[in-house]
Amino acid sequence: MNGTASALVWRGGSSFETVEVDLPQPGPGETLVRLTAATVCGSDRHTVSGRRPAPCPSVLGHEGVGTVVTTNGGRTVDGAAVVPGTRVVFGVTRTCGTCEPCRRGLTAKCTSVQKAGHESFDSDWPLSGTYASHILLRDGQAIVAVPESLQDGVAATAGCAVATVMAVLERAGELTGRRVLVNGLGMLGIVAVAAALQRGAAEVVAMDPNAERRSLARGLGATALAPATDRPGTVDVSLELSGAPAGVRSCIEALGIGGTAVLAGSVAPAGTIEVDPEWLVRGWRTLTGVHNYEPRHLQQAVDFLEDLGDGLPWTDILDGPIAADELAAEFLRDDVPRLRTVLIM
Ligand SMILES: [Zn+2]
Ligand SMILES: [Zn+2]
Repeated sequence: MNGTASALVWRGGSSFETVEVDLPQPGPGETLVRLTAATVCGSDRHTVSGRRPAPCPSVLGHEGVGTVVTTNGGRTVDGAAVVPGTRVVFGVTRTCGTCEPCRRGLTAKCTSVQKAGHESFDSDWPLSGTYASHILLRDGQAIVAVPESLQDGVAATAGCAVATVMAVLERAGELTGRRVLVNGLGMLGIVAVAAALQRGAAEVVAMDPNAERRSLARGLGATALAPATDRPGTVDVSLELSGAPAGVRSCIEALGIGGTAVLAGSVAPAGTIEVDPEWLVRGWRTLTGVHNYEPRHLQQAVDFLEDLGDGLPWTDILDGPIAADELAAEFLRDDVPRLRTVLIM
């Protein structure tokens, strides 16, 4: 393969260095994509600020969209052959397909999982992240074609935020006529509010300390509450997306008879909480967790974004676009950024 890729290699802190590398020749099952946009996920902000450990140096970024340059037998989630020129999004996880979790359909917990934007630049997968001109998609990484109607910044959010919400909602079960609590109104929370209403929830109660984010949720049709002063009342389903122990407690305590709490925000140690097993048993209540997602959830994410169209307030959600030389400053800003900043390289 002739030509070079330009990658923003993270050197620790908010230090990024532009490095030119030869375009890789895709191995069996691999696909090379020219990225047309990336979005900055909150977890990268945690990595750069030192709150989340990550390999360094590395190319960060795991939400992106781009055009297939070349493929060596790559397949989309629906089984079609990947075709050069197709606009695609891709999964965060690269899974083996043969380990015990993979064989029983829980590829999200593959024992040898590798993740886009989480691999060392010095490993066998230097172009793993989306803060680059190109990404190499590995065999065992989900690929979904993107419909024309989705703009790049919107499509990019499918790969982490929206697909994860699809996995969370699958775990939550039937939502028609249900009263649903969504705690934590980052990108996942806002998508969860919209998706729960789309799936027929009778009422969505959305909680977040940030007034602007509450107002986004209210605009979608949710009842928005401030956790410090308001109580959500009894709900059938609660979705915990903040990871804050107080949020986890609220999501569990709000569960009515037969209720289900899906926890997805708790991805770092934050202490334990107490649950009364008798209350759980006598109330037929379910507590469950979701981490990563399955390939079908990426397809559902793209379908959801296509169906919803402008049902989400994208001009209030997306910031930017910024260029490569603005990424370091993006991580240093001290205002509260919009839910996603778009990077175009
Ligand atoms: Zn993410
Ligand atoms: Zn596996």
